[in-house]
Amino acid sequence: MTEARGIKLVLFGPPGAGKGTQAQLLKERLGIEHVSSGDLFRHHLSNGTELGELARGYMNRGELVPDQVTIGMVIDRIGQISDAQGFMLDGFPRNAAQAEALETALRERGQAIDKVVHIQVDDGELIRRLSNRYICRACQRPYARDAETGVPPAKCADCPDGGDIYQRDDDTEEAVANRLSIYHQETAPVLEFYRQRGLLADIPGEQTIDAVHHAVLRILDAAHAATVSKS
Ligand SMILES: [Zn+2]
Repeated sequence: MTEARGIKLVLFGPPGAGKGTQAQLLKERLGIEHVSSGDLFRHHLSNGTELGELARGYMNRGELVPDQVTIGMVIDRIGQISDAQGFMLDGFPRNAAQAEALETALRERGQAIDKVVHIQVDDGELIRRLSNRYICRACQRPYARDAETGVPPAKCADCPDGGDIYQRDDDTEEAVANRLSIYHQETAPVLEFYRQRGLLADIPGEQTIDAVHHAVLRILDAAHAATVSKS
């Protein structure tokens, strides 16, 4: 099995699909850089860089940070990664304009995205996974619904007087369904952008972590072999 080192990919997956775990496994296996737009924002904001200050201005006015600022952060980061190392983008691009800007910027560097990995999990399953999180009000110990009864325990087993078990507002089924609907609206045009370019690979995410990881590796190996034979 060839090792898809130096590969350049974009990772997509809804909340609860295990994208973070897969990114970590790929980083360990292939040594490629994990470029998360969330991490980039935190880095630029906390270090007060030019792009960070620009972003802060928009955020302080309650406005959306323009694509150009986000693109600037991502391109700047990619520029520090050697062609031989490769990278995976996470949380970017978020819309078709960002995807196009990325394509242009990479082309200017003689590079291109090799593959777009989309971990797919049915919404019903994601809602089951994400809304199955309860915590003790006193000690914050996490609980899940009982597999047989379908309800979480009423009282905490750790707390002496049995702390109440409750669910956070953003973990309720309704809140999770809302987050997923926003995710689909946001990503559908970007997935379509990459589908048209023949770069999109849908990976069934309702399998074990290991099975998903190996499915991703097979896709990347095939993409890597295709790149090598082209050059
Ligand atoms: Zn407790």
